[in-house]
Amino acid sequence: MPRPEAKLCFPKQQLLDAFLQAVHEVVELQDQQMTHFVEGGGGFERIDLAIEAARKKRDTARRLYVLHFTADGC
Ligand SMILES: [Zn+2]
Repeated sequence: MPRPEAKLCFPKQQLLDAFLQAVHEVVELQDQQMTHFVEGGGGFERIDLAIEAARKKRDTARRLYVLHFTADGC
C-alpha cells in the first residue's frame, strides 16, 4: 500500500507498523480487561498474561525501531 507521507525507508516503516500494531494490541487487551471487570467476568489472569505478552512485544518492537535509526542513521 503506497503511503503519500512515506519518507521512511522500508524496514523502518515495517518496524514502525509493528510497533503501532503492538501498541494497539495492548490497548485492545486493556479495554477487554476493563469490560470484563465491569461485567464481573472471570479470566483476569488469562487477560493479564496476554497483556504482559503484548507489552513485551511492544517493547521489543520499540527497541528494534530505535535500533534501526541509531544503527543505520535513518
Ligand atoms: Zn532505514
